[in-house]
This record gives sequence, C-alpha cells and structure tokens, in this order.
Amino acid sequence: MQLRLLLLAFLGFVFNVGACPPPLNNWRFVGNETHDSGTLVQDALSSPTGGMGWAEAVSLSTNPHTTWPAGLVRYCYTNPSGRDAFAAPIDAAWKLWTDKIGQQSKKNGHQLQFMEFPFENNWRYCYLERKGEHDPWIWNPEVPGGEVVIVRTLEVGYLYATVGYVLSTWDTDVARHSLWINMNNINQRYIVKDIAHELGHLFGLWHEHQRIDRDHYVHFECKNLIDYDRFKKMVEEHPKDPSHNIDLLCNNGNVATQYGWHDPSAFSKVYLEEEKNGRKELFVVNYDKEHYDEDSIMHYDSWIASSPKKDMSKKVDVPLVAWLKSPVENPPDKVTEDNSFWIWQRLRISDGDARAIRYLYPWKG
Ligand SMILES: [Zn+2]
Repeated sequence: MQLRLLLLAFLGFVFNVGACPPPLNNWRFVGNETHDSGTLVQDALSSPTGGMGWAEAVSLSTNPHTTWPAGLVRYCYTNPSGRDAFAAPIDAAWKLWTDKIGQQSKKNGHQLQFMEFPFENNWRYCYLERKGEHDPWIWNPEVPGGEVVIVRTLEVGYLYATVGYVLSTWDTDVARHSLWINMNNINQRYIVKDIAHELGHLFGLWHEHQRIDRDHYVHFECKNLIDYDRFKKMVEEHPKDPSHNIDLLCNNGNVATQYGWHDPSAFSKVYLEEEKNGRKELFVVNYDKEHYDEDSIMHYDSWIASSPKKDMSKKVDVPLVAWLKSPVENPPDKVTEDNSFWIWQRLRISDGDARAIRYLYPWKG
C-alpha cells in the first residue's frame, strides 16, 4: 500500500514541477525560448517604462494583491480550444471548493463566486476570433478587462495562476489575471485537484508551507530541489551581486527569480498580512488566528520539485517533510526517518481553506 501511494505521489511530483504562481506573480516573467526569467526581471527593473510596478513587486514594499471586489471572480477562455480542453476540469475544480464552502450565501458565510463572463454575443472568448495562428490577439471589447484569462499553452511549466486581485492602478493590463495550463504536461489524474489549488491562488491564498512559522511544523530542504546544483554553480561563478549566495537564493524567492530559478519562490517563507503603506497583505494562509494547516489544498506534498538524483523513498532526500511532533518549539537539526513523516498530496479542500475563504470574502448581504 505504501509503495502504491508513493508511486501515486511520484506521478504528482513529476507533473507538478513548475506549478503555481509565475515569478513575481506575473506570467510575463516566465522564461521563454529567447529570454530566461532572470533577464526578463532584470529588464523590467531597469526599464524606465516599466514603472514602479515591477520594482515594487521585487522589493515587496507595497502589495499589489488584494481580494476580488464583492467576491466576484469572472473568467473567460482565450479561444474555443481552451474551453474544449478545460471547461470540464475547471467546473469540477470549482465544485471541489463549493462541496466544502457551498455557494455564496448568508448561511454559508461567504460571498465568493467563480463564474464565466456572461457573454451576450455568440463569440464567447476573451479575445476576438483569429483566422490564422499568426493573427494578432485582440481583446474582445465586450469584456471589461481584469477577468481571469484561461490560457491553453504548449510551452511553459504545468500550471500557473496569478494570486488574488491586482488593482488596475497597479497594472492596467486587461489580461493581468490568468490561469495557464500546459497541454503537454497535463496530468489527467490530478488535474482537478491541481486546478483547485490554482483557484486558491486566484482567490488570494498563498502556500501554507510558506508561512513564517512553518519550521515548527515542516522542514524544507533546499538541497533536494531539482535544480539546486545548477543554480549553486551559477551563483558561485556569476553572482549578480557580491552578497548573493546559494543560501540567499534558497531563502529568498525574489532573488532566486533573478537567476531564472522559480522553485524557491514557492518554498521560501513569506511574511503575511502586514500593513504596508496602508495596504494590507492578503496572503491569508498565515493570519495568526489560524493554526498551521497541513491538510490545506495549498500545501505542497513531499515530492514536488524533487531532484531525480536523490532517493525519493527517503525522507532525508525530499524537499518537504512534516515533523512528527508539531508544533515543535526547537526544530531538530536534521530530518531522520523517525522524526518526520511524509506529506501526501491534498485531494480536497480543508476546513482551514474554507475558513480562509470566509475570512477573505465574508458574506455582506
Ligand atoms: Zn501553488
């Protein structure tokens, strides 16, 4: 039984690499064939036309994320092939949420809605129809802008979603909220729960294992990430700043992203719900009234982004394990088979996830 579970987890691990928020919460920073993410971030930082937005995103001195106005999250597909491919799993992923939290109502205590934009014309897509693959993408004037654009891609990662609602005063792009699904890496077995995880990001939730107090509950081992050796060599041989080293990259996702390394931004600890310049951080997973939620749909399993060079049947060789006794005031120096346990894939919405939604989107009648 254990082996079978392990194999299932491995399947998830293989296909989960590259999931979750794009660098700096913006898919423009996902590397492509001609530019890696580091170059894109550097360009954005140095570009006078990039505006403060990008620099602010890197420094995190202000917060571009907030909750969706009135709890209404509307989405649209880029084109018919996206709807054909994803309408069913996206509906099923939202059902996974509503099975737990119910529909918006006073009784259910929240006002979150996730629905397709209600088109009135026959062409029901974010962009106008393109006759050929080289035709430009032109935004459909029927759509106000700011909807979640569901993108069927063949190029980047597996799943990406932006986090929360981005104010139009920070980013005027009509397509600034998006969910990207890579058809080449798709894993039908897990797509519904994986999309449910991404919906959590869209609603404003960050990863539970990135809570600032997570070391009392879980252990993150950066050396076991798939690209650790490569980026260690890169930062040692070509540091972008004398202060940069592999430990900094492991613990600061924003610096790691400058090198094109995305994984640390999905593991490094983030400070949550702080008041900054009058704006509130809304990575609610860490609001201090909540206990650490190891069952959250927003928690990674032990094997995500594991190095294939390691022995993934050993707890000492994977990126994330849970402490056997938690919370532990003084975390052990190292992981052993006896002081830790595996974190399996989360297949449903937890009680804590439901409380987070009610906290973010309380019913206002
Ligand atoms: Zn994620």
